[in-house]
Amino acid sequence: MTRHAAKKQLGQHFLHDAGIIERIVRSVNPQPGERLVEIGPGQGAITLPLLRRHGALTVIELDRDLLAHLDTIGENPGVLDVIHADVLKVDFTALADGGVLRLVGNLPYNISSPILFHALAHAAVIRDMHFMLQKEVVDRMAATPGGKVYGRLSVMLQAYCEVEPLFDVPPAAFRPPPQVDSAVVRLLPRAIGSIGIVDRALFERVVRDAFGQRRKTLRNSLSALCIDADFAVTSIRPQARAEELAVTEFVALANHLAGHHQSVPAIP
Ligand code: SAM
Repeated sequence: MTRHAAKKQLGQHFLHDAGIIERIVRSVNPQPGERLVEIGPGQGAITLPLLRRHGALTVIELDRDLLAHLDTIGENPGVLDVIHADVLKVDFTALADGGVLRLVGNLPYNISSPILFHALAHAAVIRDMHFMLQKEVVDRMAATPGGKVYGRLSVMLQAYCEVEPLFDVPPAAFRPPPQVDSAVVRLLPRAIGSIGIVDRALFERVVRDAFGQRRKTLRNSLSALCIDADFAVTSIRPQARAEELAVTEFVALANHLAGHHQSVPAIP
């Protein structure tokens, strides 16, 4: 395409390493009939090989300046459906139209957490996700209790998905190079019936409050929601800190509270 100055505010770091692009496409391994949706196609680094391989693809791009080029990619064999929109405003459930979607994307790092939470809200229509993110974010998503980086992102993601880090990607694979290492992660939403969260908003509130003051004991950080008897019922020590609790313990505590709490508003 004609020279496009990368826009920092849109998190534009374009992949140019053919080996990494091929690894992403092989990890996705699209099969006939599947609905693939790419978030932030940019200049088409992943779009074109996916389209050549799969024959059909929907892409969601916010930057108007990239649309003309994406239209030329669509002239290749295949059907490219370009949605010019902010991905955070895209209703994936409506887009799925009764089917299921597979999401792919080298995400804009400045809004990667909001994109992850937005996708989680539509997890019922998402079969899987393959995302390039900051390595530090992937480490947090996959962290286990007790570690320094185990936090709200780890618990929320793991409650709804299996998190599988795939491979690391160095800054030199992008133009312009980001200042951080990156990694590709696969997320597999769990079957709705297996998640077992009774009140999603209350679960989110428990996790947010617990990690909001992570150095405090749960008795203190969750004082607005729990009394000692609630901890006793769920066999959780009130002196413990959030980082010590397994995902299943957060679910058990929130479910117990759901039995005698009114629903709280979802986290904005
Ligand atoms: N996929 C391309 C690649 O790998 O070279 C570009 C990846 S670049 C890291 C992120 C892309 O997301 C950019 O094309 C950017 O314009 C787009 N983007 C940024 N914010 C967005 C938003 N809110 N909704 C949709 N796309 C967005």
